[in-house]
Amino acid sequence: MYKHSRIYTLHTDTPIDGAIVSNETGFIEFIGDFDTARLVAGCGAAVVELPGAAVLPAFHDSHIHLGMMASDRLAPNLFSCTDIEQVSEVLRKFNNTHQNQEWIIGGHYDPQNQRGRELINVTFLDSIFGNRPALITSADGHTGWANSAALRAAEITADTPDPAGGKIVRDANGKLTGQLLEHAITPLLKRADTALRELLLTELDRVQQQILALGITHVTDFDTEHTRVLLTQLHLAEQLKLRVHKSVRANEMNIALAKGRETGDGDHTLSTASVKFFADGTLGARTAYLHEPYADNPSNHGMLTFNREELERDVITANEHGLAVSVHAIGNRANTLVLDIFEKTREIATRFNLRNRIEHAQLIKESDLKRYAELGVCVSMQPTHCTGDYPRSIEIINSADTLFYPWQSLLKTGATLALGSDSPLGLPDPFHGVHAAVTRTKQNGIPAGGREPHERLTRLQTLQAYTHGAAYAAGIENRSGYLSKNHLADFIAVNQDPFRVDAAELWQLRVLTTIVSGEIVYNSK
Ligand SMILES: [Zn+2]
Repeated sequence: MYKHSRIYTLHTDTPIDGAIVSNETGFIEFIGDFDTARLVAGCGAAVVELPGAAVLPAFHDSHIHLGMMASDRLAPNLFSCTDIEQVSEVLRKFNNTHQNQEWIIGGHYDPQNQRGRELINVTFLDSIFGNRPALITSADGHTGWANSAALRAAEITADTPDPAGGKIVRDANGKLTGQLLEHAITPLLKRADTALRELLLTELDRVQQQILALGITHVTDFDTEHTRVLLTQLHLAEQLKLRVHKSVRANEMNIALAKGRETGDGDHTLSTASVKFFADGTLGARTAYLHEPYADNPSNHGMLTFNREELERDVITANEHGLAVSVHAIGNRANTLVLDIFEKTREIATRFNLRNRIEHAQLIKESDLKRYAELGVCVSMQPTHCTGDYPRSIEIINSADTLFYPWQSLLKTGATLALGSDSPLGLPDPFHGVHAAVTRTKQNGIPAGGREPHERLTRLQTLQAYTHGAAYAAGIENRSGYLSKNHLADFIAVNQDPFRVDAAELWQLRVLTTIVSGEIVYNSK
């Protein structure tokens, strides 16, 4: 039994002074006044006085990449490098300090961010990594640069044809440059994943500890089948405490179909989520697909990364096999097109009781706003993208009828909002997201009053979207989201009351205790 004077169930923003009693299956048996709690728990039950200023339901991060978070811990970080000398220094140092790793993979290398003209290539990487296979990847993961050993390991030669949906970049003489685009990276990723399996497992466990310490007990994960294998291994060893809704990558849907997986399969710890498709790129790369061209390039509307008929067919296949669908769509036109597909295939999703979703939905055409609620499409958004994008997104988008991250407007239409971090592309701390959603400012207070301030969420709406909304989008709102009887006993104690603290300080809140299934899995200090 856990006692506290300010327990928020999140049905409202009024706390209760009382206790939570969980049963042996990890569900809440009672929540309410202390005297009744004691009767329900029985006279011998231990009473744990929770620390801090408030108790809340634990968070559910609706969009995270656990596998990438784990592999980032085994990779050099080139994100802030702006010239080849800096890149060289980081890579050499990493090479020297990670001699036990069979493969080197990752890097968050950004060619657009390089001041000099010289970019990394196969010769450069050979000079650093020698015979150890290395694949440096771009921040968005869509481009890779391999050394000769990595190309050899994947049996890629100058004569290898480009794979479907990928490109092996060659120079004017037909020689390999080491650069690989999109699906050309896949064979190298697979080999690296196999070689690093044991190390990745250890790092995945560390990522889990980090996430639990941030008060997150549920995540919806968008990484690969390989991550699922590692999670399963942790789960079988009874080491998985974090609850993971594991989505299926589009290019691995055949595996899920062959195994007969359906959304909601599994148990309360590891379950199957939706199949993830991509409709467009990102605002930063100017590849988000728009109705009007980018303000700084009148010939660029971004790009659609799917064939419309194919995506429609895939949505039907997934839904007819009991798998919900999540589509990455950032630009307003990508959103329109995906909504069109969901409208056409709606009857199937309804028949199979599936909640399809759109991931990110950063730019929405005004005339599309009502369609999310009408079509029952959940909207999975990341508040720190909104503040991180400022002011660039406003500068590059030139459209009078486009709404930027319209959280409040979407809620008014009755749509379900599920919030998350997209970590490792953003930091996983949910209070960073809470601060961004409530203020629409960066942590330094810019812009004062918040961008599009009418789209700010209240604290209650924000916390609900991180708990109940996320649970609804994952189809588990009957057991998770609010602190209620018969919901999973997952909750947190925080150092300050998020309903009382100055909004500008919300990002600084710290989790003191995290409880999963009625058991403490994290205690600060
Ligand atoms: Zn993502």
